[in-house]
Amino acid sequence: MINVPKGTKDVLPEQSYKWQFVEGTAREVAKVFNLKEIRTPVFEHTELFQRGVGETTDVVTKEMYTFEDKGGRSITLKPEGTAGVARSFIENGLVNSPLPLKSFYITPCYRYERPQAGRLREFHQFGIEVFGSPEPDTDAEVIFAASTFLDKLGIKDTRLEINSIGCKTCRAEYNKALKEYFRPHLDNMCATCRERFDKNPLRMIDCKEEGCKKITAKAPKILDYLCPDCAAHFEKVKGYLSALGVDYTVNPDIVRGLDYYSRTVFEFVSTSIGAQGTVCGGGRYDGLISELGGGNVPAIGFAAGLERLILLMENTSVVFPEPSAPQIYLAGMDDSTRLKAFEIANSLRLKGVSAECDHMSRSVKAQFKYADKLGAKYTAVIGESEMQSGACNLKRMSDGQTFLTAFADIYGFLRDNK
Ligand code: ATP
Ligand code: MG
Repeated sequence: MINVPKGTKDVLPEQSYKWQFVEGTAREVAKVFNLKEIRTPVFEHTELFQRGVGETTDVVTKEMYTFEDKGGRSITLKPEGTAGVARSFIENGLVNSPLPLKSFYITPCYRYERPQAGRLREFHQFGIEVFGSPEPDTDAEVIFAASTFLDKLGIKDTRLEINSIGCKTCRAEYNKALKEYFRPHLDNMCATCRERFDKNPLRMIDCKEEGCKKITAKAPKILDYLCPDCAAHFEKVKGYLSALGVDYTVNPDIVRGLDYYSRTVFEFVSTSIGAQGTVCGGGRYDGLISELGGGNVPAIGFAAGLERLILLMENTSVVFPEPSAPQIYLAGMDDSTRLKAFEIANSLRLKGVSAECDHMSRSVKAQFKYADKLGAKYTAVIGESEMQSGACNLKRMSDGQTFLTAFADIYGFLRDNK
């Protein structure tokens, strides 16, 4: 038997209604926030992620699915959504469209990680990216879109944590201070931290190793190093969030995994799904477009992990809307009555009614059992006498009541009795 690859999962027909609900809700939120869908390829040139995600990130150093294609090009399966969207923005000259350009995506992502609850090798993200506005109201709006999405899913158990990681200027000062602080501790820190010390000390704040975490706890905080412009920007973001009634806590230790962030960064965190508690993360990335050769275009976005959201919803008993069931099951008894059932079922489908009939040559009794399992709302048997009278009894399964209905009137009956 061939199994599914490690770290990937099937979504089975019995479970897909949960995904449809989450994705449908994402689309509804996108609509009211006037975000238009953008679709980019699942694979890109490896260099895009090296430059766009950052050479010192876990994603680029350890987690990418990279391979050489038959033409000798280095290709990588997208580990996140932003870099591809940014590439497309530049390549298609979208900077010339009316700004801000507000976009969203729902996409699979690939990271070579150690699989565990809420951490897979193939997972899915709903993300939004807004290009062109440096203004703090945009930051607040993007955060509000994420919180609206979580609300509409029925998720109550998350808290919003925000931070500002400043711009290049304040970060240079901060990195200097971090280096001074970390230098005497380096021998007690992990190999990754020691490497980051030279390349990007800010990222040391993100280390999950217990020993490093203890040292990091007392490190200088970025908020004390923000330049006046970045500090004012952050104050305004907080003001707009309060105006929208969004609760938040400031967590100076959120630095986000990806290198291209600047100023506002944020996470929605849950305590109900264990260690992988971050269900949504985002921030401003004013430097990304120019890093990729597209000029000076500020941008902000977030990505929410759909597997983690569904896990959280299941763990906190959020009720998913019922999956749809057939409105009617039509049973036949022999060749000619089965043909009639088949015809009626398919003519109903043409009119938008979900209808079902037998495809297994089952007895009427077995057909009813199947109809019951499907959750059909009405059932009807077509036998000899029904063929002669041109009418059949529609049985409402919830209470057993029957309604004698001419074949030609079945559609009208079902339309009026849902
Ligand atoms: P973590 O610290 O959990 O590894 P991250 O910082 O690597 O998260 P991002 O790159 O910000 O994650 O991705 C945004 C969201 O995508 C995360 O908040 C999470 O919900 C989801 N996500 C990231 N990696 C995975 C994964 N391997 N499996 C499932 N979901 C994931
Ligand atoms: Mg990660």
